[in-house]
Amino acid sequence: MFVDVAKIRIKAGRGGDGHIGFHREKYVASGGPDGGDGGRGGNIVFTVDRHMSTLLDFRYKKKYAAEDGEPGGTKRRFGKDGADTVIKVPLGTLIRDGETGALLHDMSDDEPFIAARGGRGGWGNAHFATPTRQAPRFAKPGLEGDERFIVLELKLIADVGLIGFPNVGKSTLLSMISAARPKIANYHFTTLQPNLGVVFVSEGSSFVCADIPGIIEGAAEGAGLGHDFLRHIERCRLLVHLVDVSGSEGRDPVEDLETINRELVNYSQALSRRPQIIVANKCDILEEGSDHLSRLQKKADELGCPLLQMSAAANQGVKELVYAVWSKLETLPPVEVFEPEMSVETAPDLTGERDIHITRGDDAVFYVTGAWVERIVNSVNFDEYESRMYFERTLRKAGVFDMLEAKGIQEKDTVDVLGIQFEYVY
Ligand code: GDP
Ligand code: MG
Repeated sequence: MFVDVAKIRIKAGRGGDGHIGFHREKYVASGGPDGGDGGRGGNIVFTVDRHMSTLLDFRYKKKYAAEDGEPGGTKRRFGKDGADTVIKVPLGTLIRDGETGALLHDMSDDEPFIAARGGRGGWGNAHFATPTRQAPRFAKPGLEGDERFIVLELKLIADVGLIGFPNVGKSTLLSMISAARPKIANYHFTTLQPNLGVVFVSEGSSFVCADIPGIIEGAAEGAGLGHDFLRHIERCRLLVHLVDVSGSEGRDPVEDLETINRELVNYSQALSRRPQIIVANKCDILEEGSDHLSRLQKKADELGCPLLQMSAAANQGVKELVYAVWSKLETLPPVEVFEPEMSVETAPDLTGERDIHITRGDDAVFYVTGAWVERIVNSVNFDEYESRMYFERTLRKAGVFDMLEAKGIQEKDTVDVLGIQFEYVY
């Protein structure tokens, strides 16, 4: 759902041409052919860099090419192979074919993945000498390297969740600490937009922070953000609990803290167990003589949570918070691994007429056809559980299962959707 996406073009190196050459020696009238082979073109290789957490780099550089192979030389000298170009991506990046959206590789370990192969070098004319053709004047050109569009897709997992009442300053804080905003796939089930930012700490250190809106707006009952969002956000490792310490909204900061923590239990048991850093925001408008801060400190001590003072608007204490979050994160286990999931970005366009046809073959197989169906089939990677579930859901929603029932299908009959066969289970 928070999907960082980047489309890039990759081009592997061309193979070097084979050489046409003849052996020459003093006093030897005409030597045999001795042209060497061209070198192989470089590959485009993806590897995981565990320090990366976003696809930000790919927004600035979109074309990657590997080196061409060098041509062959005389005396059967081989041309040098072109160097590979290595592209580093964050752990968990999905590599898809840019044209079809098919999943090519899931960068979930340290295995390098060759996404485009360099072209083979051409043979030099030395290869073509035969007893009857002693002096061949031809060699082969090198072959072109693969060239393709690739879509990189990374599901961002928030390390940190921001919680607190409306208007305590969550959005303000997020905007202050976000180095850049990744392009986020529309979260289309709700009007409540979860906000996500990548926070830069220092070179090689960054974390992903999400504003969790809606905790006190009935989200626990399934309204608002819904379960997918919950499932995502539940994996965050640390909560930053923002409180308006000035009481500018007429509420009491200690009560606010307790209210949100109570709601949090209903919202998500998992989240309510996460460690919290409590932040007293709006310190700049805290009235003199107010006991808000001391009472909040007492409450924080009771809960065993650190309390930081901040004014997001005045940019005071913000950097300190970022460092505090980072040093806490370093003590916590990493985010759980993600399962591949059909992303919103690659979902097929299902608008337009749903021309679904169902015929029953002589072989008792139910054939489902139509352009609309074809679009779905083309977009689904049947090796992926989540994608198959998506496929099934989509067909069901479109009424395909009902149509099959109307045609008299029975449990365990075979359904064929444009060549994809499965057993019918309603
Ligand atoms: P959210 O609902 O928690 O996302 O809160 P917002 O970030 O939208 O902030 C609500 C209001 O509080 C805005 O008008 C902000 O300008 C203001 N605000 C945020 N942080 C501070 C702060 O540290 N001091 C003061 N005085 N105002 C702040
Ligand atoms: Mg907000």
